[in-house]
Amino acid sequence: MLNIKVFGIVQGVGFRPFVSRTAAAFNISGNVANRGSYVEIHAQGTNVDLEKFLTALQEDAPPRSAILKVDVTELPDRNFTGFEIVESVREAGDIFVSPDIAVCDKCAAELFDPNDRRYLHPFINCTACGPRLTILKNMPYDRERTSMSEFPMCDACAAEYFDPNSRRFDAQPICCNDCGCEVYLLNSNLRGHDAIKHVRKILATGGVVAIKGIGGFHLACDARNFDAVQRLRDSKTRPTKPFAVMFRDVAAVERVCRLTATQMKIFDSPQKPIVLLGTGDEGLGTRLAANVAPGMNKIGAMLPYTPLHLLIFDFPDELGSFPDALVMTSGNPSGVPITIDDDDALKNFGFCDAILSHDRKILLRADDSVMDFIGDRPSMIRRSRGYAPLPVFYDGAKTSVLALGGELKNTFCLAKNNLLYASPYIGDVSDLRTVEVLKASINRMRDLLEISPEVVACDLHPRYQTSALAAQLADDLDVPLVKVQHHYAHVLSCLAENNHHGEVIGVAFDGTGYGLDGTIWGGEFFICDEKHFERAASISAFKQAGGDKAAREGWRIALALIGDVALARELNLASDAELRGQKFLLDNDLNCVTSTSAGRLFDAIAAVLGVCKVSTYEGEAAMKLQATAEKFSPKSQVPSPCLSTDEIFAEVLTRRLNGEDVCELALLFHERLAEMTAQICEDLSLETKIKTVALSGGVFQNSLLSALTTDKLQRRGLKVLRNELIPPNDGGICIGQAVHALNR
Ligand code: ZN
Ligand code: ZN
Ligand code: FE
Repeated sequence: MLNIKVFGIVQGVGFRPFVSRTAAAFNISGNVANRGSYVEIHAQGTNVDLEKFLTALQEDAPPRSAILKVDVTELPDRNFTGFEIVESVREAGDIFVSPDIAVCDKCAAELFDPNDRRYLHPFINCTACGPRLTILKNMPYDRERTSMSEFPMCDACAAEYFDPNSRRFDAQPICCNDCGCEVYLLNSNLRGHDAIKHVRKILATGGVVAIKGIGGFHLACDARNFDAVQRLRDSKTRPTKPFAVMFRDVAAVERVCRLTATQMKIFDSPQKPIVLLGTGDEGLGTRLAANVAPGMNKIGAMLPYTPLHLLIFDFPDELGSFPDALVMTSGNPSGVPITIDDDDALKNFGFCDAILSHDRKILLRADDSVMDFIGDRPSMIRRSRGYAPLPVFYDGAKTSVLALGGELKNTFCLAKNNLLYASPYIGDVSDLRTVEVLKASINRMRDLLEISPEVVACDLHPRYQTSALAAQLADDLDVPLVKVQHHYAHVLSCLAENNHHGEVIGVAFDGTGYGLDGTIWGGEFFICDEKHFERAASISAFKQAGGDKAAREGWRIALALIGDVALARELNLASDAELRGQKFLLDNDLNCVTSTSAGRLFDAIAAVLGVCKVSTYEGEAAMKLQATAEKFSPKSQVPSPCLSTDEIFAEVLTRRLNGEDVCELALLFHERLAEMTAQICEDLSLETKIKTVALSGGVFQNSLLSALTTDKLQRRGLKVLRNELIPPNDGGICIGQAVHALNR
């Protein structure tokens, strides 16, 4: 018998009936049950039939589902009579709030059919597609409890809504050209199709437009137009951070990016996330303006996912030609959550040539989700629209928990009955305006999921806004507050997503987090389980001087590691005055903290190699270092010696001063770091007999490091757990905090 666990979007999409039909087709006996974040199948049959069954499961899955992972293990045979759908006791009373779903093919076809009564209707949707979470006030999901309640249905729509044979039976956001919501321009009289045509004209001629979508506003411009992109950068004060690009269709993206079959499946799935796609060696990326993603070998690409997006690309008007790729970046002033209403849009987007809005209220923000791949495994960078608030299933205590997450890339988690619901992306909570949004989002999700927390969890950091809010909420609710060390929470997020229980060797490579000893941690090796952790090793410590600047300016860390102003000058790390000033801080222990942050080590190496001396956005140095390493193709596999990070840094420095190739050295650094990590884990494994390693922390977003480390660990006979659908970065730590609070 096979035990099959199917992970992904398998809730509320008719997946279990599909499994049961498929089982019948191949004479499989057994059962299928919903386990929250995955569907569990017991399947018994002949080997040939089982094989066919497994293939069909993945190839014929229902259109709205998205299979991201299938785990198969063998179990002893049992006596099954037929195949049944098990209503698991576990899920009784659990609430599955559907994420928002991209416009489906049938609706897209009707949208452009002149004979259809929803011809060119910007809000066309059906039971299989459209907004969900973002328009929901309360459960159960019903028109009265959504932001569609203010739009009475016309007779024709009502007829479809109540007809069980209609594609729109019970489709809550149903509307048409005669009823429901409308698009319009702010500061203008243009509405409906006229507004769309106007926006198309502006975009085609190099203008910048704000467009209201499902989970918030986007800022858009022609992705091929350097000047337009530059204007958007200057207005948004975002000098270099890559912009996401929405392509007209699959053909348009293939002119610029390389997609594997696995990537295509996710890219064109009902979730339509942003997927980081390689632009290849052929300079495919040059078909876009160079300032879309400067210094990167990947582009964050997505497909249109609302009817309005489709109309913006393809409205049948007199316009001769229209760009097939638009920059589509979250419409938010830097550091603040995405804009969702007209008043804020008017305040924030004064620099735009037009603001295209609509009157369907967004009740909960949802930024676009961002996904990368490590080989053919997904690696979530930002989990939001399309995925939140689908829960992670985790065996454990039934306690209801609220975990507030970290300070950057904040998401929070509500947990109940073994299900961990992570919120959509909130953002950078160090800004007080974001704290307000966080509070409001917590209240909305609590209402939706009907969860009253019995314990509140947060980070250990004394100065995080989230810690302060957690203390206040715990006080208001009169429940205990649990503080969880940052990197331990990272590792636990990885255990949770893999539903792993018991001791592991946890490796957390990360930016900055508050350690137990008052120093900054971030390159840590733990022996841990859900209840306890012990810091078993870490990377070589260095001095981080200069406060916040040290987190952005890698040359400051590099100088601490080099220790010599003359050498730093030779590498042109900074101006003479800056170097001497920094050296003074280091020598006199002024504004200095001890740090073992792997993120900062990446910054220092990037500075030494001249790849990035000062970061203008979080993670810039590490991303550029990876892109640089990937330019080098190694001629032969030379075994890497096992060095400490101090020794690795010294080697890179010496070889750089000798004038060796920067790309080769960037790759060498990744190699050496992976080797060191694997060796430390092997030593710890010999000592403790633990055979499982969990990798987490923002640095493991680096797909090169992640792949190299995984490979080296597996060669040593160790089992590797990674984050796949929960981000390894701070967007995932709310899940880890919740797990610890549950097991306390
Ligand atoms: Zn549809
Ligand atoms: Zn209607
Ligand atoms: Fe972190």
